[in-house]
Amino acid sequence: MNKTKLKTAFITGISGQDGAYLSKLLLEKNYRIVGITRNNHAENLEKLKQLHIADSIIMEECDLLDISSVISLINKYMPDEIYNLAAQSSVGLSFKQPIGTINFNIVSVLNLLEAIRIIKADIRLYQASSSEMYGKVTELPVTINTPMHPLSPYAISKASAHWIVVNYRESYGLYACNGVLFNHESFLRSNGFFVKKVLQETVRNQNNSDWVLKVGSIDIKRDFGYSPNYVEAMWLMLQVENADDFIICSGKSITLRSIIEYVFAKLNISIDKLVIDDNFIRPTDIEDIYGDNSPAKDKLGWKYELDFFQVLDILIEEEIASFLKESHE
Ligand code: NDP
Repeated sequence: MNKTKLKTAFITGISGQDGAYLSKLLLEKNYRIVGITRNNHAENLEKLKQLHIADSIIMEECDLLDISSVISLINKYMPDEIYNLAAQSSVGLSFKQPIGTINFNIVSVLNLLEAIRIIKADIRLYQASSSEMYGKVTELPVTINTPMHPLSPYAISKASAHWIVVNYRESYGLYACNGVLFNHESFLRSNGFFVKKVLQETVRNQNNSDWVLKVGSIDIKRDFGYSPNYVEAMWLMLQVENADDFIICSGKSITLRSIIEYVFAKLNISIDKLVIDDNFIRPTDIEDIYGDNSPAKDKLGWKYELDFFQVLDILIEEEIASFLKESHE
């Protein structure tokens, strides 16, 4: 009888937003998933539990800064694919913790690639690269060949990791690729990120007369998308014959102000509740950025047509439902 072998995937950073949606997608495709976390606490399973998939995943603790632990884990499971999503992923926090951010975000990728090279295993690696690397762009839309001018420790870490991936592909012929993702959101976005913060606070304080929404620079523009659709591009990138790097984005930018105005209007909240607080303003920030997603659409067959205000409609509904559930518990 001809039996097809189950594919095994490692997902580092599985406890985060993308880790949860990618796990769901790969389970639907019948993968065996090994989820890698720094700390196997119950709260790290929270997002997986919300998607009702926590019990379908093998969880492993691993310090990605320790190459011997990485090698042992790869030898234990021999994965077909590794999705490296683990990172200190906040731009704002990277200004407060530059050394930790740069150390973890670069060395973790290097260890994974070194381990694959040393073991000589046939493993495909996806690296979670970021549009933040392009920073001070002079020409839009961003393509994979746009020169990089990173504007934060986070962006610098992601740019270095990006070039390490390219270097291992070119030097050793490894199947390793960068998915350069632009901002993408969902109900599972980690707390503190802009869109999640706006939604969480606004929904919970709709009737609180003392509350104001404190934010930093909101006239900057970003290209926003929807995480459940973006993780599909990650998988597609590892299914084509030759490894390559791709920009994953919606293709247009909107101001942060327009997001707040949209959410406030939907929830009937006065714009007087918006306060600009200097404490939230970063030392440097990108003014406007959007990308060109046509190579991903043409070469990977990735499909994405959502307007971000449509995504906001979904997220507002989910945030309200979650708040109502909490209130009844
Ligand atoms: P999250 O922050 O939600 O998840 C990242 C995970 O990385 C965490 O859950 C954490 O898991 C792990 N981690 C490992 N080391 C650290 C550390 N030193 N500090 C903090 N967390 C750490 O990220 P997303 O799911 O939103 O993003 C996935 C990847 O994609 C990240 O690498 C991010 O930088 C990148 N990216 C995200 C974009 C976005 O808009 N969301 C845009 C472009 C790139 P644990 O504690 O279990 O180890």
